[in-house]
Amino acid sequence: ARDDGAFDPAAVAPCVITAGLQDVAPAYVGYAAYRAQGGYALATAVQTDACTTETVLKAMEDSGLRGLGGAGFPAGRKWRIVREQPAPRLMAVNIDEGEPGTFKDRTYLERDPHRFLEGLLVAAQVVGIEAVYIYLRDEYHGARAILAAELERLQAEPPFPLPHIELRRGAGAYICGEESAMIESIEGKRGEPRLRPPYIAQVGLFGRPTLEHNFETLYWVRDIVQRGPAWFSGFGRNGRTGLRSFSVSGRVRQPGVKLAPAGITLRELVDEYCGGMVEGHTLYAYLPGGASGGILPASLADEPLDFDTLQPHGSFIGSAAVVVLSEADSARDAALNAMRFFAHESCGQCTPCRVGTEKAAALMAQPGDWDALTLEDLAVVMTDASICGLGQAAPNPMRCVLKYFPHEVQAAGAKAST
Ligand code: SF4
Repeated sequence: ARDDGAFDPAAVAPCVITAGLQDVAPAYVGYAAYRAQGGYALATAVQTDACTTETVLKAMEDSGLRGLGGAGFPAGRKWRIVREQPAPRLMAVNIDEGEPGTFKDRTYLERDPHRFLEGLLVAAQVVGIEAVYIYLRDEYHGARAILAAELERLQAEPPFPLPHIELRRGAGAYICGEESAMIESIEGKRGEPRLRPPYIAQVGLFGRPTLEHNFETLYWVRDIVQRGPAWFSGFGRNGRTGLRSFSVSGRVRQPGVKLAPAGITLRELVDEYCGGMVEGHTLYAYLPGGASGGILPASLADEPLDFDTLQPHGSFIGSAAVVVLSEADSARDAALNAMRFFAHESCGQCTPCRVGTEKAAALMAQPGDWDALTLEDLAVVMTDASICGLGQAAPNPMRCVLKYFPHEVQAAGAKAST
């Protein structure tokens, strides 16, 4: 990170391109370079008790780090909950990164894989984990090549005895980014979410207490403990604290992963980190959290972007996949696209989601005005009665269009699609 918090790929130099990976992977910090820069010193200190588990836990809690896969559960508290469960305890790491518009995990993994692996090992040591399963999106060929090669190097010359670590390939299902569906998939079953309770912290992978984390949550562990929790919590705007990695795409001059203060507004993010809007385009709408986080109008571009801040507007930040739309785009089309995506990705286990997404997509695809009453009926059933977050969040973009962009769907105006 640069001093101003922006993501700076040059900051991870010197880069070491490993032989044989040039075709599929960008330059990244390999094992030798990472260790030469002081890497694995923290994990070694935790292993030898030079840094106590309580010190690490307190740093995690004081930093305010929350799960960066989208759920936002406080990471330190999760570590305490799982370490109090009976052994053997397992760990599942989610690098499925299936939310449309999200690419932060891949970006970091392809540049500094050992920063993540060190965070993983620190978490495993503090929580007392016997085996770790890393679930990686199968479409990430470059990331997999890097992670497999670097895991091999780490295991060949470990700084200390390592837990059992397995790298598992996902199979392209969005629902396998949901933690319990991912666990089912790792166990070799269909990726279908589980009913909770019991929570996976108590009954998770192979029936054992399981610590589940998104890639990026573990990526920040080393910096938080070594620099101190105040380093992380010292960032923030508009009353929020910490850093967020925004995956920004759409009508901005400089899309990409933007490491920015939590609570930054969309307008600030676009102007300060993305070079403004593409020439000839003005801000019309934005998706703050990929397909599931809803669609907000330009009039709400000064709202702080963080966990919990967008709920009053029927939206959420999730994994911070920000898609910026201009006057050249249609919120109606974006919502239809999202609903079709959810219909395709629904695991089919429960009726409100399986039937609701299909029915809503069919209604939304009809030319002319939307049938708002029927769509809202469907939204209520999906939100109230779906088993998991996919079905519960699927109506968000549609509801946002009805609320903020009625001119697109209540009179077949200029922006209405056919
Ligand atoms: Fe499957 Fe959808 Fe039900 Fe989730 S809400 S369990 S994705 S059918």
